[in-house]
Amino acid sequence: MVDLTVPIRPRMLINGELVEASDKGTFPLYNPATREISAHVPEATEADTNAAIAAAKAAFPAWSALDPTKRAAPMKKLAALLREHNSTLGHLEAISMGQPVSKFIYGFTGGSMFDTFAESWHRIQGQSSITTPGQMHMTLRQPYGVVAVILPWNNPVHFFCSKSAPALITGNTVVLKSSEKGPLAVAFLAELVVQAGFPPGVFNIISGHGLPSGRILSRHMDVRALTFTGSSRTGKLIQEEAARSNLKKVILELGGKSPAIVFNDANLDKAVDQTEHSIQTNSGQICMANSRIYVQREVAGEFIAKFKQKFGNVKAGDPTSKETNHGPQADEVQYRNIMGFIEEGKKSGKLELGGVGKLDDMGGYFIEPTVFTDTPEDAKIMKEEVFGPVVNINVFDTEEEVIKKANDSEYGLYAAVYTRDINRAMRMVKALESGYVAVNCTSPVTGRDLPFGGWKGSGQGREGVLYSMDNFLEIKSVIIQLED
Ligand code: NAD
Repeated sequence: MVDLTVPIRPRMLINGELVEASDKGTFPLYNPATREISAHVPEATEADTNAAIAAAKAAFPAWSALDPTKRAAPMKKLAALLREHNSTLGHLEAISMGQPVSKFIYGFTGGSMFDTFAESWHRIQGQSSITTPGQMHMTLRQPYGVVAVILPWNNPVHFFCSKSAPALITGNTVVLKSSEKGPLAVAFLAELVVQAGFPPGVFNIISGHGLPSGRILSRHMDVRALTFTGSSRTGKLIQEEAARSNLKKVILELGGKSPAIVFNDANLDKAVDQTEHSIQTNSGQICMANSRIYVQREVAGEFIAKFKQKFGNVKAGDPTSKETNHGPQADEVQYRNIMGFIEEGKKSGKLELGGVGKLDDMGGYFIEPTVFTDTPEDAKIMKEEVFGPVVNINVFDTEEEVIKKANDSEYGLYAAVYTRDINRAMRMVKALESGYVAVNCTSPVTGRDLPFGGWKGSGQGREGVLYSMDNFLEIKSVIIQLED
């Protein structure tokens, strides 16, 4: 356990050494609940980023040649350390980006991810065929080399694990960059990576902003694959840098404006509970939050009344307290951005609940759970991702109408449908333009062995226990001409 009573000293991990930035540069990280400084975090320089990539490149030949069960060994140690330090990791997230410790389970789920991928080495398999007379064909799956991982702030420990574990077991070496808004748990994980015994250079961890380190990773000629979770805006910038440099493989998990659709025949109480939980989780800062809810007219009044009752009853406060279930927004930029959306929402729709920023009252970036109704479909707040505890509830009459409205979005990450009519449910499943469709449940529920990823502007590629390893394995076709 780290001693949380002494100042936290985050460092980076480059070539097996825990280091400060080479120019000693740091940036201040503020606790979003109090606006006090939580830590000074190293800002990776261009030289630091290049050094991490060079270390990963140098470590690649030996790591990729290693018996994969030996690659699994430090991964399994890291899995155990993740579980052991769940509460420290939760505390560090709470004082970085405000996620309440009462909800923090990602040391356990991340540990399970490291274990699962460590034990999945036997799935590194190609294909073979003898369909061409006189020839034998086979494919080999081989690692790319240096993989860059760029993390968002909204759930750093989860994405740390879901991205680096499959990259490592497949024989790639990794340079991971934390988000400038959520770097503390990741810096602590750098210490755990050292304890787990990865060979120097295999797993490098840096901290800093998009500029310079994120951009360098995106444009570096020695980075052969890059996996990113974050905003669609940054995803496009990364894709541009990749195209201008070496056409590295890019996997993008981006934003969402996810619809939940509630028909007259739905189990209304269940729909209220689950859709409220979706938009309330992490104070609305999850990519798949159902930020647009469409309710069929006959049940709309009852649904909205029950939803307001539940959403208005959160326990906001210190995210390090076990009693809190509603933390602050991650930082001042997020807070101001969300408040801007709320002001715009008041002009375009009808404010039903909340709409108040609590910075002056509570001293941190807290925002009341907010509900709008009757918002025109083309309003900014219906089109753009708010990433806060703000939901728009609109009323619909027919199936055709709601399909059109739900799909009228540049995003397509997650959609939910509540109905007891199996035929209608299946028509909706087929019609919705979305990487995920849930029937009688909603986000953050995901199937443990299903792929995750977005249609349209919500991303490209898929992640998941059966899918992520493929992201980090090139395919080689081998043809063998046989002699008679
Ligand atoms: P962000 O795009 O602001 O930042 C993400 C990361 O990109 C950070 O590490 C940042 O330093 C880095 N970055 C910034 N500019 C860069 C540049 N020019 N080049 C390279 N890297 C750069 O995103 P965020 O605010 O941290 O995360 C919130 C967003 O992530 C939301 O849009 C949310 O929907 C999305 N998200 C998506 C998923 C998913 O699986 N689809 C999951 C969680 C979050």
